[in-house]
This record gives sequence, C-alpha cells and structure tokens, in this order.
Amino acid sequence: MVASLHNWQWLVDLLDILLLAYVIYRLMLLVKGSMAARVMFGLIVLLACHSLFQLTGFQTVNWLLDNLLGSIVLVLVIIFQHDIRRALVALSRSRYGKERDSEATSALIEELVMAAEGLAGKKIGALMVIERGMSLDTYMAVGTEIDAKVTSEIISSIFLPYSPIHDGAVIIQRGKLTRAGCFLPLTQNPDVNKALGTRHRAAIGLTEIADAVVIVVSEETGRISVAVGGKITRDLESETLRRVLSRLLEARWLT
Ligand code: ATP
Ligand code: MG
Repeated sequence: MVASLHNWQWLVDLLDILLLAYVIYRLMLLVKGSMAARVMFGLIVLLACHSLFQLTGFQTVNWLLDNLLGSIVLVLVIIFQHDIRRALVALSRSRYGKERDSEATSALIEELVMAAEGLAGKKIGALMVIERGMSLDTYMAVGTEIDAKVTSEIISSIFLPYSPIHDGAVIIQRGKLTRAGCFLPLTQNPDVNKALGTRHRAAIGLTEIADAVVIVVSEETGRISVAVGGKITRDLESETLRRVLSRLLEARWLT
C-alpha cells in the first residue's frame, strides 16, 4: 500500500504544484489593478530586501525586517480585510448570481451617466466617488449619511444649487449611495493643470491615495471628467463616459 502510494507521489506533487499555481493565478486576477496589487508589489520588494540583508549581515535592519515579516499574516489580514470578505462572497456566488451582478452594474453605470449628462447640460457642478477594492470609510467622517439606491434623480437633486448637501462629493459604495457632502483631499501635485479648480483637484487628490473612480461635472464649463489613479481625463461625451466606467468598474466591487 505504502509502496503504491509512493509510486503516485509524483502525481500528488504535480497536483500540489498545479493547485498552488491556480491559487496564485486567482489571487492575481483578484488584485489586478487594485490597491492590493501595489501592496503585494511592496511586499515582494520587502521580501527581496530581507533576503539581501540576511546575506550581507546587517543586524539592526535584519532584526527590524524579521519582526515585521514575523507578523506579516496578521498585517495582510488587516490591510486586505475588505478584499478578503469580497473574495469569500464571490466564491460562493453562482453563475446566475454573477449575471445578476453584472446587470446591476450596468444599471448603476447607466444611472451615473444619466446623472452626469443631466447635470452637465444644466451646468451644475458635481463630484461622484465610486468605491472599488479599497474601503473609503476613512473619507466619510464629514458629510451626511444617506442610504439610497443610486438613481440619476437622487444624484441630480443632491447637487442642485439650493440643496443643503450640494457642496462636496457623494460616495457610492457597493452599489448604494452612502454619503453626500464629503470633503476629499486636494492634490498637491504641482504638475496639475493650473486651470483646474478645487473640485477637479479634489477628484485627483482622492484617487492619488485611494483606489476609487471619481466623476466630475464642471459648473463652469458643463464638461464631464473622470479621475482614477491620480490622473484626470477631461471632456468626456456620454458614450465615452459609459465605456470608461464599464472598463473601470467591475461587478465584484459594486454589488
Ligand atoms: P468647476 O469647473 O465646477 O468650477 P473647479 O475645479 O473650478 O470646478 P471650484 O470652482 O473651486 O472647482 O469648485 C468649488 C466646489 O467644488 C465647491 O463648492 C465644492 O462643492 C467642491 N469642492 C471643492 N473642494 C472640495 C473638496 N476638497 N472636496 C469635495 N468637494 C470640493
Ligand atoms: Mg471653478
């Protein structure tokens, strides 16, 4: 029995390697383009430094890295708590559930495009933040709590000049409008076009430090822009906006 198992050891090893490769592949798909990918990259650099310092024998740096990497699992769980929860939910979701999620995402994008289009047409300024993989809870201290379905009518009424919560940004999390009147961090980048005012700078500033997508409607020009990763793309037509949002927003983040 033991001998026959031994004969099959190569198959078990092969399956072991394939399984590990598959897990790594799914993990990479999961973090692709998100903040988690950047953190993972940072971690790989840290591990490389650790090996290098161990070879060279720098004692203090070694001690520091040893301690840091010793509790790395705990650190990773804390950093990725949001992603881990979503990954577990995604694992248990059926094909039917996924189809429904993708329909819900298209519907949400449609509402956002309609809202932006309507506001732009009336030259009403707006700032809409859509959460992706990374939680935006830390930016929600200021502002008014809302718990509403995202519809173009609600977004438009929030930004009407006489609305008490028209100043600042609305936040959309997991497909819901969760907050309005939020203050976002302004970009400090000196290369940002001098013609851009604080609304656009707030959109750029937030996306420099958070993995979110921000739609800006300019009050001055009635033009629509989208900021992501600290970069802003200006003057988007509705059709382009729809395409850009479909590319940037995935169902797993929004439902
Ligand atoms: P517009 O093209 O609409 O004029 P802009 O980029 O020129 O936009 P401002 O004219 O300075 O920017 O827009 C001011 C408005 O932008 C404020 O009334 C407020 O609603 C919003 N705003 C400014 N700074 C922030 C911020 N840090 N966070 C959220 N909203 C902000
Ligand atoms: Mg202005």
